[in-house]
Amino acid sequence: MDLTAPSKIANYIAGSLQAPLNGKYIDNINPATGEVYSQTPDSDAKDVDEAVGAAKMAFESWGKTPAEERFRILNRIAELIDQNLEALALAETNDNGKPLWLSKRVDIPRASSNFRFFATGAMHFSTESHNMEDKAINYTLRQPIGVVGCISPWNLPLYLFTWKIAPALAAGNCVVAKPSEVTPMTGYLLSIICKEAGLPDGVLNILHGTGPSCGAAIVAHPGIKAISFTGSTRAGRDIAATAGPMFKKVSLELGGKNPNIIFADCDWDKMMRVTLQSSFSNQGQICLCGSRVLVEESIYEKFKEEFIARARKLTVGDPLEDSSRQGAVVSKMHYDKVMGMIQQAKDEGGTILLGGNSVALEGRCKNGYFIAPTIIEGLGPNCRTNMEEIFGPVVTMQSFKTEDEALQLANTSDYGLSATIWTQDVSRANRVAAQVHSGIIWVNCWLLRDLRTPFGGFKNSGVGREGGWDALRFFTEPKNVCIEL
Ligand code: NAD
Repeated sequence: MDLTAPSKIANYIAGSLQAPLNGKYIDNINPATGEVYSQTPDSDAKDVDEAVGAAKMAFESWGKTPAEERFRILNRIAELIDQNLEALALAETNDNGKPLWLSKRVDIPRASSNFRFFATGAMHFSTESHNMEDKAINYTLRQPIGVVGCISPWNLPLYLFTWKIAPALAAGNCVVAKPSEVTPMTGYLLSIICKEAGLPDGVLNILHGTGPSCGAAIVAHPGIKAISFTGSTRAGRDIAATAGPMFKKVSLELGGKNPNIIFADCDWDKMMRVTLQSSFSNQGQICLCGSRVLVEESIYEKFKEEFIARARKLTVGDPLEDSSRQGAVVSKMHYDKVMGMIQQAKDEGGTILLGGNSVALEGRCKNGYFIAPTIIEGLGPNCRTNMEEIFGPVVTMQSFKTEDEALQLANTSDYGLSATIWTQDVSRANRVAAQVHSGIIWVNCWLLRDLRTPFGGFKNSGVGREGGWDALRFFTEPKNVCIEL
């Protein structure tokens, strides 16, 4: 199995690697160097149609394949991901700009965990029965939907791609999947791994291309019965508009503007260490990053001083160097967006306490897209900087006096993905957790993930939940059978 990144990426349809039918490609750029290093298929509705045809045919047998066999193959995929960690991590870093140590420590191990977790899930999934005393018994069958679509973003490319594909396959569906056109490489390498692992042809089809031409065609295809999407709220809205009238099942994991609520009685050192991570990990390009830091007034100045001092030490550098804490942001387009939002914060009257500028590196990375960790204060909860998702190494700070005020600030957002609460007072932690309008709450920790828990957001952060049984339920149709006794 050769997992070297090719200069031309191919679609994976019916078990074979093939060029897009229209022959068109998009440049794939390494954001750390600014250089084009491969070509990605610019697939369209014709490729989608072919992939759906292959998936439909494969479903005839995959939909009936015993759970134990599905377990065996998915577990094999997990093993192959682990065995090829180095090659996959390098591909992820070259595509995305994140530090190589991060790809090795987080992204690729999590991709294999996703397959391993749902492989075993297939073996343990069970359904309910409802007994009507001596009248009747109901039992619920959970059957695979058929052909489903999985569309994922660029920030955690293989991690989020497999987070959808693994439960879809485990539940017995066939899949037409599309990774982000900005970071297609590990999605492509996954096709090679799946072939090697013995996944039957057509069970998983991986297409490459843009949202408007390839993604939208997946959503609109009448042969695809459910869509699992992770990405921006804007694209989620378009997907809902297409899928709604077609009565497709949708799971939408969208943007966030997460509050990080810090009370004076927190465990200071741990809070400082983890807040730095939750602010700037992956250059702030994690939907769960705490981009609005809310600090109790009595510790605000102390926090500010130490937070700035710690963030100043985060080395922005070549993602291939172990010493780099921050890599490149994912693309020129995203770099321009983030820099534009920093300018907007200044225009709104914000004070830049740290960063606010791009970082010019020498040598290999001299044309890369690097932004300094940026901390902003002086902006109210309703300004655009505090309302709109920036999705870069940029956080704002606001202070609060009371628990009520903290909650009010936290909930002043159209988003509701996650929140972090720092306090040693367990009653307060429970009280605040219950009142924050977010789907995922961390108390005295951040990004601590148990794959069994429901994952998803309130409000504009999405519809539905991923993870554990929620994912296997999403990818199956319940059917009730009632037998009169
Ligand atoms: P994006 O919406 O631009 O693209 C995501 C994926 O959708 C890509 O594969 C893209 O090609 C495709 N796409 C775009 N428009 C489409 C359309 N109209 N129809 C079908 N497919 C379409 O998002 P992005 O810029 O790649 O990712 C960043 C966003 O993802 C941020 O908003 C971030 O918060 C969000 N995100 C959310 C979660 C979560 O779990 N809630 C996780 C990671 C990222």
